[in-house]
Amino acid sequence: MAEPRECGTCSLCCKLFEITELSKPFGKWCPNCNVGVGCRIYGQHPISCQTFRCGYLAALVPEEWKPSKSHMVITFVKDLEYPVVHVDPNYPGAWRKEPFHSQIRQWATDAAKVDGMVLVSINGQYTVVFPVGEQHVGVVPPGKVIATGQRATPDGIEYLAIVTDRNHG
Ligand code: SF4
Ligand code: SF4
Repeated sequence: MAEPRECGTCSLCCKLFEITELSKPFGKWCPNCNVGVGCRIYGQHPISCQTFRCGYLAALVPEEWKPSKSHMVITFVKDLEYPVVHVDPNYPGAWRKEPFHSQIRQWATDAAKVDGMVLVSINGQYTVVFPVGEQHVGVVPPGKVIATGQRATPDGIEYLAIVTDRNHG
């Protein structure tokens, strides 16, 4: 059996995510983070930090996705299992490099078969990745969601994403 994964010296989630309890914006190191060492307020850190496990730590993605090396943190949208690739804004092209880009494209191909989607987020700005191509949709305001669709055209399948009300469709 494989060894359980550990965060080790990785702290990347303490940089990439917005943490509302701390008024911490996307893409900036949390002031409580001793980078590469750990959380200075561990034990009293916000509940959202306490419950967070990235897809790498949960062993849902291969070893090469280790966030401290790939510069990306994977999460999965609750109940839907859509991967969201959160990219370090200092390495905005990380998701376009191999082997990551091919894996993301394969996830998008699998997701499109079940009306799912794969998202890339940089500082809370979203891009929907399709089996072919991608579409930048930007910030998704509270109460809104991203919806995707596809249609057959003479040139092949055309994919589209929109930001819409949560009860859309
Ligand atoms: S990004 Fe994942 S591996 Fe890195 S510190 Fe956060 S939970 Fe741990
Ligand atoms: S409070 Fe601690 S665990 Fe939460 S983001 Fe800041 S350093 Fe990380």
